[in-house]
Amino acid sequence: MKANLDARIARAAELSNTYPSAASILSFYRELALFQKSVSQDVQSNAVTDVRALTRHFPALLYLMRQIGAQPIAEFGCEHLQSSAAQEELLLGYWESGPVNHLTGAEAGRFFARVLLQPYAEYLASRGDIALDRAEPTCPFCNARPVVAVLRGEGDGAKRWLLCSLCATEWQYRRVICPACAEEHKDKLPIYIASEFDYVRVDACDSCRAYIKSVDLTKNGHAVPVVDEIATVALNIWAEEHGYWKLEPNLLGM
Ligand SMILES: [Zn+2]
Ligand SMILES: [Zn+2]
Repeated sequence: MKANLDARIARAAELSNTYPSAASILSFYRELALFQKSVSQDVQSNAVTDVRALTRHFPALLYLMRQIGAQPIAEFGCEHLQSSAAQEELLLGYWESGPVNHLTGAEAGRFFARVLLQPYAEYLASRGDIALDRAEPTCPFCNARPVVAVLRGEGDGAKRWLLCSLCATEWQYRRVICPACAEEHKDKLPIYIASEFDYVRVDACDSCRAYIKSVDLTKNGHAVPVVDEIATVALNIWAEEHGYWKLEPNLLGM
């Protein structure tokens, strides 16, 4: 059910043509996904279960960021992530304190941690037995918050799934409820749809002002939710201009 890295890489290239205004962020995401594929192959072939083993990928990631990363990211890497002790501390801190409590004040640190931890967490989740019918708004495997929702057809109407921002597990969640504050009144939960992206919508909450985007696979079966979420950054800008905050930023921090 989950889209693998190859599908994400291919979708990023495809959507660059569909949405030229998002082409540069999609090309950056594609490079990250290619890098994550090499981490994923290492983690799977060596059955890595110690987060510290990921530090061996830091040199390549730091090099990549010097080539294509935004200046604050590249600089943070040069200044704070040169020693293996610092790299370990970052990964362990993020892994153990949990994505819900981000490392304070270090958005760039969070970025590096997530690029490496996502393929690791995804591998661990693929080996675990996860109860997917949980009614909570955080991941049943790693407790992180969802980065996007997915609507899939089933019976009389589409069901909503939440997709974990860290391990990519998807779990079913009620449709008419805010995942941030549990508001259930329909008139407090507006849905916004822009004509350019008729299959991606903004599910907002007027009680706590949170929003999450939903990718409707009944309207576009080719979508790869993680990538289509990034490609529709225009919706984030619109939502934030209207006073909503995103439940969880994506890998690019948006
Ligand atoms: Zn998770
Ligand atoms: Zn709410």
